[in-house]
Amino acid sequence: MDRRNAWNQYDDAALLKVEEAAAGYKKYLDAGKTERECAAEAVRMAEAAGYKSLAEAIQSGAAVKPGDKLYQVQMGKAVMLFHMGKAKLTEGMNIVGAHIDSPRIDVKQNPFYEDGDFAYADTHYYGGIKKYQWVARALALHGTVAKKDGTVVNIVIGEDESDPVVGVTDLLIHLAQEQMGKKASEFITGEGLDITLAGRPLKGEEKEPVKAALLKILKDKYDLEEEDMLSAEIEAVPAGKARDFGLDRSMILGYGHDDRVCAYAEIAAMLQLPAIPEYTCCCLLADKEEIGSVGATGMRAMYFENAVAELLALTTGKESDLSLRRALANSRMLSCDVSAGFDPLYASAFEKKNSAFLGRGVCYNKFTGSRGKSGSNDANAEYLGRLRKIMDDHDISWQTAELGKVDVGGGGTIAYICALYGMEVIDSGVAVLSMHAPEEVISKADLYEAIRAYAAFLTDMKQA
Ligand code: MN
Ligand code: MN
Repeated sequence: MDRRNAWNQYDDAALLKVEEAAAGYKKYLDAGKTERECAAEAVRMAEAAGYKSLAEAIQSGAAVKPGDKLYQVQMGKAVMLFHMGKAKLTEGMNIVGAHIDSPRIDVKQNPFYEDGDFAYADTHYYGGIKKYQWVARALALHGTVAKKDGTVVNIVIGEDESDPVVGVTDLLIHLAQEQMGKKASEFITGEGLDITLAGRPLKGEEKEPVKAALLKILKDKYDLEEEDMLSAEIEAVPAGKARDFGLDRSMILGYGHDDRVCAYAEIAAMLQLPAIPEYTCCCLLADKEEIGSVGATGMRAMYFENAVAELLALTTGKESDLSLRRALANSRMLSCDVSAGFDPLYASAFEKKNSAFLGRGVCYNKFTGSRGKSGSNDANAEYLGRLRKIMDDHDISWQTAELGKVDVGGGGTIAYICALYGMEVIDSGVAVLSMHAPEEVISKADLYEAIRAYAAFLTDMKQA
């Protein structure tokens, strides 16, 4: 049962659309290097397409009706889009959900120190990373500093060509005999991922003159004190823009495909819905998936349920816990997250006929998890059957996959969390090479097919 390669299906007009989708996505990646930036960019795109604030509708108590488009933001780090449909909310929604946080290196709350005439930032990495991939490369600093007076300073250093960049240094090969003998998980330690920030002393300063010079820059350029770092979220991410990959330009190299490629595909699909879809369509962009969907902005928080409760009140004029349960339980969802693309260089990690191939279209994972499907949302065969029909009716290139060989490893998504409500959920996404590396690779064809697949799902999936 080999699946077709999407590239073979495209005529010249389709190829133009593939490039258009890729260009839009690369812009989204460049604008969103952090969960906050991705959330802000999603809201900007939604507002430009006529979406209004749900928070404001709740404030004013304005009735919500079919065709209305609303967005809700959770603490600046998670976003929900709702496009109200003809059917009652209790008949369920068609939901696409992705995450917008990506692995990175976070700066600690008390970060700065000086050693050997350098000033450093101490860090604590976020998400699953191969630590050795993050040394000896250009990093940019993105973040938010909340001052005591309530003002918030946003920082982006290292993305403009004229900006300086920072980074974590590595040991020269000439002296690395001991380092090279260690296991890859050990030769760069978490505590060793310290970022070099400065290397020039402040003239006349006797105690820690390089750190003093660094603090002067922060004061002069950003009006920040060292103490302000106590309430800051600064993320070190790979510097630079997403780029075409391969001489044929068929792929995209960039930071954070996991899972911004699915987030972008969802937004793009939402923005091409008919004026009044049959069912209410919903796009979830969650934070904290990479560390277990925890915290007030992770999918396990109740913000989605709360937003649906508010929508029910605004559409029916009534509050009902039973209606809320019905709306959630009757919903259909694609949990959109990246899948491991088959990599011939590491073929032994994959079982080939149940692997996702770059270029063969949007991917469906009936289950994820590890070992005996532990931690997986195992989607229902009946639901997968209904999906197959929608995909084939729309002539979408799609494939099914598992995340590597059975005993090799595993992973999870937000699928199991939404499944708690009793709704139908299946994992769906785009195949990625070098997942969780500072720069990951996807195929433009898979991005394009994901957008088409999500749009078809949102318009065509029905209550069983
Ligand atoms: Mn992911
Ligand atoms: Mn991930």
